[in-house]
Amino acid sequence: MKQIDHHIAPEMLADYSNGHLDYATSLVVASHVSLCDSCRAEIDTFDVLGGALLQEEIAQEPSPDLEDTILKAIHTSVAQPRVKASGPLPQPVMEALNGKQPAWKSLGPGIRQHIIARDKKSSVRLLYIEGGKPVPEHSHKGQELTLVLQGAFGDKTGEFHVGDVEVADGDLEHQPIAMHGEACICLASTSDNLIFKSMLPRLLQPIFGI
Ligand SMILES: [Zn+2]
Repeated sequence: MKQIDHHIAPEMLADYSNGHLDYATSLVVASHVSLCDSCRAEIDTFDVLGGALLQEEIAQEPSPDLEDTILKAIHTSVAQPRVKASGPLPQPVMEALNGKQPAWKSLGPGIRQHIIARDKKSSVRLLYIEGGKPVPEHSHKGQELTLVLQGAFGDKTGEFHVGDVEVADGDLEHQPIAMHGEACICLASTSDNLIFKSMLPRLLQPIFGI
């Protein structure tokens, strides 16, 4: 794989680690992190910090089994991912698809999408764009993250190859175009609500199954 040039900002990685991002944004962050050693190292640091804070909270309210339960849940979720990466689709995407391949719907000649999740404030989808075609806009407002999973696209801000993520707010006027050659597959989120509804730390999510 070509070296990754476009990363997630540390502030967003910290929000991800703390569980402060909505689902759509965190799925793109998780997918980038699964492909990017340097962002994964940063997340590990944030997780250790968050874990230390959690330990402190536990120490203030002693409950001998809770810590074991949490550690077991974390160990299980790390050691036994329910589904594996498939072709260009990384593990977090395959998990979101429950292990199934995307059911592409045509958006016009050479362009397809599969919506993974959508609500009033956010959405996350896979886009398939043949070389030379424009990447469809998926939002007019809020923050957009576009992660390249196969092929490449370019716009006036630069070129984006596999693993690169473009973070754009609604004010950025840009028209990404898939580069000639292999079809471009992207994971794209849009969100105008970056505060995760529940303030539960991401560490606890495996326990509560959220
Ligand atoms: Zn990165």
